[in-house]
Amino acid sequence: MTIKPPDAFSPGRTPTFEESARTSLADSQLRRNLGKATQTIRAKRAVAVKEMPDWEELREAGRALKSRVMRHLDEYLLELEESVQKAGGHVHWARDAAEANRIIAGIVRDHDAREVVKVKSIATDETKLNEHLEHEGIHAFETDLAELIIQLAGETSSHILVPAIHKNRAEIRELFMRELGVAHLSDKPSDLTEAARLYLREKFLAAKVGISGANFAVAETGTVCVVESEGNGRMCTTLPGVLVTLMGIEKVVPAWRDLEVFMQLLPRSSTAERMNPYTSYWTGTSEGDGPEEFHLVLLDNGRTDVLDDETGRQALNCIRCSACLNVCPVYERTGGHAYNSVYPGPIGAILTPQLVGIGKPGPDSLPYASSLCGACYEVCPVKINIPEILIHLRGRVVRNRQDRGGPRAKLDPENAAMQLLAKIFSDRRRFEGAQKLAKVGQLPLSRGGEIRRLPGKLAGWTDVRDLKPVPDETFREWWRNNREIG
Ligand code: SF4
Repeated sequence: MTIKPPDAFSPGRTPTFEESARTSLADSQLRRNLGKATQTIRAKRAVAVKEMPDWEELREAGRALKSRVMRHLDEYLLELEESVQKAGGHVHWARDAAEANRIIAGIVRDHDAREVVKVKSIATDETKLNEHLEHEGIHAFETDLAELIIQLAGETSSHILVPAIHKNRAEIRELFMRELGVAHLSDKPSDLTEAARLYLREKFLAAKVGISGANFAVAETGTVCVVESEGNGRMCTTLPGVLVTLMGIEKVVPAWRDLEVFMQLLPRSSTAERMNPYTSYWTGTSEGDGPEEFHLVLLDNGRTDVLDDETGRQALNCIRCSACLNVCPVYERTGGHAYNSVYPGPIGAILTPQLVGIGKPGPDSLPYASSLCGACYEVCPVKINIPEILIHLRGRVVRNRQDRGGPRAKLDPENAAMQLLAKIFSDRRRFEGAQKLAKVGQLPLSRGGEIRRLPGKLAGWTDVRDLKPVPDETFREWWRNNREIG
């Protein structure tokens, strides 16, 4: 099945999570692929993390470093700009996706390039750079194996780290035979990789311009870092004469020594590796070594608005390891496309609504795409309190709906029910009275120890949840009775 969801960063209405999840849940092959992949990654990560006696200290260091960056983001960005320029690079500031795309397309045009090679960059997915370049007659070749698969299939990514997680080997074999014109191909991983390698090698050698994302950029030295596991990133960042890096402004770190923390946290959390296989660093340009021209494009695109929210800004600490996706029971069942967002899973549920702004049905539905089990918080290497932000954003969504709806919104059934419950829970006598009433009121609804269906508008609750009846005896009554017996 080919899923081509609209993107949460594109204008127009995107479907809500609930709507899209129905499509994903109906696809049993997708659920099998996802279940197998996430269970394997989860188990490997747990082993890799257990080896580290100071893992919790590392997490705390990562959290503290990222929080400091967010408190002084303006200063570190200016320092980064100065360092890159000193090292011979050019720095561009992009307020939004359109400006970033314009800047990058301009650089490519200036070098008369009609084709560019790209290494996996979620920021360019966010700005829809490939579509913009295509519109200008420039074709971008994705070189990360999984990104290539997605590009050839005409789909969007469904996982931060493993964009083609929803596809199995047989599906990839079929795709390569069709799109790359390979006559005979087995579904052995080594054969599939070889087919991609032969196709991409020519592109690397011919491209005048390479485009990359960035995992980190060091303010004190101007060094940019890309972490990947195939070596294609190294080719993209060294072979073409011109290198353009698009980086979200939150990726800056103050000093070189800070990378020590993230280079331990990231590989173990993402691919369960002790050390990352290919980590590329470059600082401006050097004669006779790598690209002759380097451009760093710093992207805001809503990030400064996120920074404005003291609870929500933790989302900017994310180092895109994807550990939260792999442990999330909701993601495991629906996959990434149900989120209709470049950033899927728990991180997408807290980042996307903030980047695009509260008040759009699709992104507004994402903070509800969670059971609030807390597994994401437990594995996050920089200790982002995802459940806290989910609840905070749900509050913002509701308040926004009420503000926009005016006095009529106060009559919304959910709002009226919450206000009534607040009154009941805030007074002991009211609470005990309500318990007694509920015991009598539930009698016609309760069957076999559970309430199958609530009446009227409340039925929405029991459509998707079990509801236990109010017990015959409250805890206080039980305590009183048993104490008296004792
Ligand atoms: S939120 Fe945490 S666990 Fe999820 S991708 Fe970001 S850093 Fe990794």
